[in-house]
Amino acid sequence: MEIVKNAFENAMTQLTKIAKIKDFGEEFLTRMSVPDRDIRISIPVKMDDGSLKIFEGYRVEYNNTLGPYKGGIRYHTEMEINEIKALAFWMTLKCAVAGIPMGGGKGGITVDPKKLSKGELERLSREWTRKLSDILGPHKDVPAPDVNTTPEIMAWIADEFGKITGDTTGAVITGKPLEQGGSEGRSTSTAQGGFYVFEALKKELKLENKIRVVIQGFGNAGSNAAIIWNKAGHKILAISDSKGAVYNEDGLEIKKLLEHKKNTGSLSDFPNSKNISNEELLELECDLLIPAAFENQITEKNANKIKAKVILELANSPTTPKADEILFKKGISIVPDILANSGGVTVSYFEWDQNLKNEHWSEKEVFDKLEPLLQDASKEISKKAQELNTSLRNGAFILALERIKDKMRG
Ligand code: NAD
Repeated sequence: MEIVKNAFENAMTQLTKIAKIKDFGEEFLTRMSVPDRDIRISIPVKMDDGSLKIFEGYRVEYNNTLGPYKGGIRYHTEMEINEIKALAFWMTLKCAVAGIPMGGGKGGITVDPKKLSKGELERLSREWTRKLSDILGPHKDVPAPDVNTTPEIMAWIADEFGKITGDTTGAVITGKPLEQGGSEGRSTSTAQGGFYVFEALKKELKLENKIRVVIQGFGNAGSNAAIIWNKAGHKILAISDSKGAVYNEDGLEIKKLLEHKKNTGSLSDFPNSKNISNEELLELECDLLIPAAFENQITEKNANKIKAKVILELANSPTTPKADEILFKKGISIVPDILANSGGVTVSYFEWDQNLKNEHWSEKEVFDKLEPLLQDASKEISKKAQELNTSLRNGAFILALERIKDKMRG
């Protein structure tokens, strides 16, 4: 039975595996197996009832060889330092893969934001910023939204940072509302970026012109993927959310499905479709499976039952290392998360760039810049994987590590 280890152990298992394919030297691997900084803070917040509550906050700054640390902040009750370290490690590689001048970080607060009033949430976010204001900054560490953090929270953090330091460019954080310096295209950038990667690799992955797609997850990444792939003429056979999945072998009508979800709160019982379970969805026969929900969805347990020709990981870490090996042996190609979902962080970088230059680009300008970046990254990774006769995931890791090692001094 595969034990799903803590995420950081998974990340380090990947690093050890890579070291067997390409010799990066002991010193470099030792550097890459620890974060530069791993900070835990106490955040006192005056609650609405007058009491004082202390929350625990974090920031992991993994590596800044290629540029300022970059990575989201999540508000969750099950925040765990090893998970944040792993996410910060993957962010380091993701930025390197996308070819943007950013390093990797991640952070957050142990809290269920739904249990706080808006005022409490704002005081908590501002205090997190005050406690970390020395290490944050446009040229030091630039956070972004992640699970349960919103554009409004990003705006509070930018505002608080501006008050403390006098830097009002907003470039200390990305994912802000448009009126407060956010970028056009940020909300659809992850799915759109995934589509550019898919287009760049389609031929090599031996996919037909029009294909059958199955999507797990109907949130930001999943619903935008459904819209984008469908608009390009592909058939979306099935989609799931946390409550279940719907399936139609002739293809789902995405516009109507979006309305149905809005009206009923779930995908289930969508007219002209069959309700199926999330497990069944993952095992459907299709050309492209897009996991866009959570980590560890494809494991040793179900990897043998996957019938998709290609998996494109919009979610972070949806495939465990053991499942990865099984799928590779079965000949199922995986377009890895650090490439497939890197459109999100790339447009975040565009936001930072616009803030520093005091510019505002149109959505067309944003996507015109995103497409060639991701096409180049896809082609380079594919070349690397072919040269070393390995998977795209290993190719992506190796390319990222090479870029970091080339620039690392001392
Ligand atoms: P989200 O919260 O908007 O959506 C998550 C979706 O998954 C929801 O529809 C939810 O109902 C569904 N879901 C939850 N449990 C499920 C289950 N067991 N089976 C099927 N569906 C389930 O989140 P998101 O922003 O779309 O992120 C999804 C994934 O993509 C995450 O792994 C995230 O880290 C990754 N990602 C997102 C972005 C981004 O810009 N949004 C960028 C990079 C990576």
